[in-house]
This record gives sequence, structure tokens and C-alpha cells, in this order.
Amino acid sequence: MDLDERINQVLSQCEQTLKSISSHQDLEDIKVQFLGRKGLIRDLFSQLSQLSDSEKKHYGESINKLKMEIESKISQKGESIQSKIQTSPENQVFDYSLPGFPYSIGKKHPFTLICEELYQIFRSMNFMVVEDREIEDEYHNFDALNIPKWHPSRKLNDTFFLTDGSVLRTHTSPVEIRTMEKISPPIRMVTIGGRCYRRDASDATHSAVFHQIEGLVVDENINFCHLSEILSEMMRGVFGKPVEIRFVPSYFPFVEPGAETLISCPFCKGDGCSVCKNSGWIELGGSGMTHPQVLRNVNIDPTKYQGFAFGWGVERLAMIKYGIDDIRLFFENNLSFLEQF
Ligand SMILES: [Zn+2]
Repeated sequence: MDLDERINQVLSQCEQTLKSISSHQDLEDIKVQFLGRKGLIRDLFSQLSQLSDSEKKHYGESINKLKMEIESKISQKGESIQSKIQTSPENQVFDYSLPGFPYSIGKKHPFTLICEELYQIFRSMNFMVVEDREIEDEYHNFDALNIPKWHPSRKLNDTFFLTDGSVLRTHTSPVEIRTMEKISPPIRMVTIGGRCYRRDASDATHSAVFHQIEGLVVDENINFCHLSEILSEMMRGVFGKPVEIRFVPSYFPFVEPGAETLISCPFCKGDGCSVCKNSGWIELGGSGMTHPQVLRNVNIDPTKYQGFAFGWGVERLAMIKYGIDDIRLFFENNLSFLEQF
């Protein structure tokens, strides 16, 4: 056999043998078989002695090349055997000291939290919890609430009007009207977290979509003290401590007398802090005694029955309670904000 042929034969023999093995032990045997002292390469070199000088040079180079090729193939095979062993399931090493994967548990939205609290507070005072539509007619959103046709809140730039003339309710007060239309006094109702809409530009304290808590009590001999008492109880529930209620006379068409409602700052006890802007008092929203005309509109006799009502922003309440400084955070689904609660 010609030496060139023999060299090629040794190479292909090596390739075939490497394909058929899968252990380091087999690889060691192949190393010995090809590269060992009595191996096939050594055998090829020994044949050089019978050749002329020029042939020696030529075949010497060829055999050296073969030797390097076989060495490289054997080393590649070694690496491939090693990686197969490492990735095989029985050889997977579990490091118990590694930190676990963090995963976040769902939490309740601060808006949901405060609504649940308000629900508990008013159920404990035996209020009926009601809900109603967000698309209202002008009668229930304005007229029945004694809001005259010329009132600025009815203008296009304050209210979203739909093409059929109905409106996206601008407050939850129409729920009072619809309740009084259905139920005769005594009435003790609250609507919690009702969605409302106003054409407000969005900023830190305004949102075109917001939610209100609205309460109404109608019975005989109802007066301002009852209102004060219910609001005190509500605030005690929300802030977990007694707060004082202060009424500042104000005008709302559906109440008479009407008031802006303030509470003593639950955070600084009146000393002044950033929440109350150093005044010791926090403004929450409107309240008052139901206007006699509103009662007449739903066929309740104002000479026999009186009512009181309040309607506040739920976001505002939550912002005060949780120290949130921007109403837009309620609607943005920002996880780093939501995870604080
Ligand atoms: Zn304060």
C-alpha cells in the first residue's frame, strides 16, 4: 500500500472510531491506539526509514499533519463527552446556597383598599350600599338636584355630553335621586367609589375620571348634628383615630345649608404639617342638609322629612390617608407605586 493511502486510511479510521464512543475511558484507548508508543502514528513514522531523503521530508510533513489532526479531533471529542456528562439530568448539581427567584404577589390597589374600608364602616352603621349608572340623563344629574339650567357646571366645558343628550355623570348625587325615587324614608344609603367624569385637564390633583363616596340620610327630625356624627364616625374609621369635623358655609344647589367639610389633620394633631399645608385642617368636600326642593322633586314632603348628604372624592381621601401626592398614580398601573401598599 502506498503511504499516502495509508495516511488517509488512518485518518478515516480515527474519525469512525471517535464517532462510535461516548466515554472518557474509550477516548483514552483511542489515544493509545493512535498516538501511543506502539500506536499507528508511530508505526507510520517508522516506515520513513526505508524512504529516500526527499520522500522522508514529504511524508514526514504529511504524517506530522495527520498527528496534529488526530490530536485535535481527540481533544474535541473529549470536550463534547464532558459537556454531555455535565448536562445530563443525573449529573445536574443543585446549589442550595443560591438565592431564590423573587416573584411578586398581587396586592390590592390603594383605591380598592379604601373602598373596602368605607364599605365596612358604612355597613357597620347600617347604611344600604347602592350603585347606579354612569351615563345619566340631564334630569337626574342636574335638574332633580336643583341645579338650574344656567349653572356653569352644566356647560360643555365642564360636562361630557353624549350625542343623544345624556351625560357622563359629573357626580354621584344622581344616585341619591334614583334611590329616593324607589324607596320611601327612612333612607340611609351610601354609594362607594362611584365613577364620575368632568372635563378637567389632568394634573396632580385633577383627573377627568374620578370616584366619589356619596351618602344620604332622610328621616324625620334629621339635623346637622347627625351629619357631623356620621362624618366623624367615617373619619375615625378611615384614619383609625378620632378627628374633629369643621363646617365652613358654602353653596351647593342641592343642599341648604351647605358646607365645605374639613377635618382636623390626623397626622400633626393641628400643629401643622405638609399634608394639611400647616393649617391643621384638611378640606374633604361638600356636605349639607338636603334642599327642600330636591325632596319635593322625588315626592318626599320636606315639612315632614329632612335629609343630609355628602359627596367626596375617594382618591382625595386615599391620597390623604396614604400620603399620595399625585392623583394620576391611581390610573397609571405603575408597579413600583402599587407595591407600596
Ligand atoms: Zn397636618
